[in-house]
Amino acid sequence: MADLEQCVIIGSGPAGWTAAIYAARANLEPLCIIGVPRSDPAPVLPGGQLMLTTEVENYPGFPDGITGPEMMSMFQKQAERFGTRVVGEDVTNCDFSGSHHLLTTSSGTEIQARSVIIATGATANWLGLENELRLATSGGGVSACAVCDGALPMFRDKPLGVVGGGDSAMEEASYLAKFASTVHVIHRRGEFRASKAMQDRILGGSNVEVHWNKSVTDVLGDSMIEAVQLEDTVTGDPSQLELSGLFIAIGHTPASAFLADSGIEMDEKGYIVLKGRDSHTNIEGVFAAGDVADQIYRQAITAAGMGCQAALDAERYLNES
Ligand code: NAP
Repeated sequence: MADLEQCVIIGSGPAGWTAAIYAARANLEPLCIIGVPRSDPAPVLPGGQLMLTTEVENYPGFPDGITGPEMMSMFQKQAERFGTRVVGEDVTNCDFSGSHHLLTTSSGTEIQARSVIIATGATANWLGLENELRLATSGGGVSACAVCDGALPMFRDKPLGVVGGGDSAMEEASYLAKFASTVHVIHRRGEFRASKAMQDRILGGSNVEVHWNKSVTDVLGDSMIEAVQLEDTVTGDPSQLELSGLFIAIGHTPASAFLADSGIEMDEKGYIVLKGRDSHTNIEGVFAAGDVADQIYRQAITAAGMGCQAALDAERYLNES
């Protein structure tokens, strides 16, 4: 078995790299396990959701914007500059029952660690349509985050669609209503599951139109979305709706399946439960940061802040134990 690590970070999005920068500067010589690319059904890459984001305009410090992949590459370089070591594998099993934490990676390598920071993020759920994923990954006007992408010039004063009927869909619709000519909320049932307060925010909007009982069966357009093909979920009738942008808001899935037998406390959706306002999980020496433990904010900047907290908490834990 390899040497005992002080701090192992699982994940390589803004939370993971920020934790690595702080841990490395605190001389913890962190090992960052960054994952391997896969499809789910959209690509899931080391670097996380920002790897699928064309333009990031809301991260402070980049007045002209920056692409998501460029930003993640800069985060990684900064972490490596202070000595972070990087392993391009997945963690497949975690044993937190012993005095030291034991992680197994996809190659079967076992890693012992005094502290572990879990920053594996979450993936947006997609409808799973071929053209939806093609346009989402090529900057073609399909996105799973209105707050990230909605303010881009290409969406200004244009008809935009939001798919979903939960709080996220309401929030995205109300955000987009500031820029769009019309926001079309497309929901597969005849009522929303969002809270009443969130529903009221959009149902009263002068430029919001709700399409009840409609599912999206295709996304039309070559390099840019031009329309969606709809099907009435009650009558089966087909229709088309012209759109210049489509925002999928049908929930997220936290990347926590590998923790299933670990004893880490998670909620019913698989989000890691944090103890209070810091990054402690229910297991000593195991911390969590970013979207795997946050279904409210889900922003690069909040994930980075949580990564910082986790590294500071881990450092304090290591000093005291
Ligand atoms: P959610 O509550 O699970 O809602 C997902 C929505 O997407 C549902 O309306 C669902 O339809 C629809 N949907 C799911 N799969 C679909 C598919 N394949 N095709 C079409 N529609 C599909 O997810 P969420 O809105 O992301 O919210 C997640 C959690 O975060 C919730 O607890 C929410 O309260 C919370 N949240 C809170 C705030 C806030 O308070 N500011 C903001 C955002 C999120 P059905 O209704 O038919 O199932």
